[in-house]
Amino acid sequence: MLNISCFFCDHCKKDSRFVPVHRAMKVAGVSRSTIYYWIDKEWVHWRELPSGRRIICEDSLGRRGSTTFTSDVV
Ligand SMILES: [Zn+2]
Repeated sequence: MLNISCFFCDHCKKDSRFVPVHRAMKVAGVSRSTIYYWIDKEWVHWRELPSGRRIICEDSLGRRGSTTFTSDVV
């Protein structure tokens, strides 16, 4: 289905919805390389599953919305 899981987010200090990278791309409207860039910079909360797949805290994705970019411009 939507492939969304709930895990405890160390950054949010609460249970958050974590989504796989391909889902995060759709939520944030960015490319895969951008998602991995954000992960690399730790601009989003993420954790790694035992299988090695990375999943991303949906709350942190929301905070990376267009407001950050527009405020930079202004
Ligand atoms: Zn989080």
